[in-house]
Amino acid sequence: MALDNAVMEGLVEEAERVFDRPPRYHAFRTARRPYVYDTNTGRILSTDSLGLSLLEALGKPGFSRFAQDKAREVGDDKVCVALEKILGLATDHDPRLLSTEAPEIGRYCSNHDAYRHALDAKLEQLCVVPTNACDLDCHYCIYSGKHKNRTGHTTETMTRNTLESALAYFVAHTAETELPAFGFYGGEPTLVFDQIKHATSYLGREMGNRKFNMTLNTNLVNVTDEMIDFFVEHGTNLFISLDGPKHVHDRYRVFPDGSGTSSLVMDNLRRIRDRDAVYYERHVSFLATLAPPVWSHDVIPVGTTWAGGPCLDTRNASNQPCV
Ligand code: SF4
Repeated sequence: MALDNAVMEGLVEEAERVFDRPPRYHAFRTARRPYVYDTNTGRILSTDSLGLSLLEALGKPGFSRFAQDKAREVGDDKVCVALEKILGLATDHDPRLLSTEAPEIGRYCSNHDAYRHALDAKLEQLCVVPTNACDLDCHYCIYSGKHKNRTGHTTETMTRNTLESALAYFVAHTAETELPAFGFYGGEPTLVFDQIKHATSYLGREMGNRKFNMTLNTNLVNVTDEMIDFFVEHGTNLFISLDGPKHVHDRYRVFPDGSGTSSLVMDNLRRIRDRDAVYYERHVSFLATLAPPVWSHDVIPVGTTWAGGPCLDTRNASNQPCV
């Protein structure tokens, strides 16, 4: 049966083309809303009942009829917006997100040549620690000096030569990777902003037309207007350490004088969002370190606090560790 709305008809056709099989995810629900765990990327997407019902029907026989029934139930506009978001995530954001394919890496385990080739030409990401220094003194930090067999923070910083060796390795070993990522981890990488600028310009030059992601794990305490402008201009992906609401975050994430960092982090998040809401929506994610006592109802709302209302987004989770 033909759909009345031409826009929706086009979106349904596109969805049937992109999702010839169901996408790979697991759905779960909290008291607040449904979520989708994307199994290929480890990301958690917040959604609503309409988004989830469309995801559940995608890639299965009768999707077009299902979309028509939904449109009659909730309206064409809502179905179109939800489909646009799903298609945007599946096609624009990260090619692995909402993918119908299992990760290719599974095949390499039993095939030495393929594994070798993957290491030589299909490196997915390289993460460097440009400095051991940090302006915070989080109680659970592995550099806090409170853990056995671990040193405390030092001011040791990666040399330009070492950074360039890592960058050259990245360029040489990602020749066949669709969207490789070069990441900065810490310590606190914004303390060596020059290294980030240098790496961004180096890869912009040496990667030529190949796409890549720059990622930065940050406590977001030290961020300046110049840094925000730079991150926006270059589409740098920020993974911001945020453990939950103020009373959760400030238990562990503190300045050296013991005072909490939540208010400053939230102010700086506002500055980024005010500078460029689209950048904020697409390139800012959060990393929550779960430390006892852990209550999921304390942590999960953080992810949607700053979402600005989209029904599907990649707010609050990553499979990367915080420290
Ligand atoms: S921001 Fe990260 S590196 Fe710095 S003290 Fe906290 S956990 Fe450690």
